[in-house]
Amino acid sequence: MTDLTQAQGGTEFAIRCDNCNTILTGAHAVGNLTRHKRSLKCGSSGQRKDYACPRCGKVYHRSDALLNHNRKHHGAPPGAPRYPGQSPES
Ligand SMILES: [Zn+2]
Ligand SMILES: [Zn+2]
Repeated sequence: MTDLTQAQGGTEFAIRCDNCNTILTGAHAVGNLTRHKRSLKCGSSGQRKDYACPRCGKVYHRSDALLNHNRKHHGAPPGAPRYPGQSPES
């Protein structure tokens, strides 16, 4: 059930995530990288994604913390839509 046996034959792959420098190894490294980049693991060991408040510039590491901040400090209406994208592009 494991694919690790393939690695013994010399077909070992290692690929580096260009987002967080995590090294992924194994026969499915390429596929895992795609999945890794979408997961929360990406960036957890390297640089983090920051969410800056567009109104006062305060920086948070989590989008929900920024939303919280917006509600508390800027009085955003409770029915305000979330950010349209996953994250603001820098
Ligand atoms: Zn990554
Ligand atoms: Zn703010």
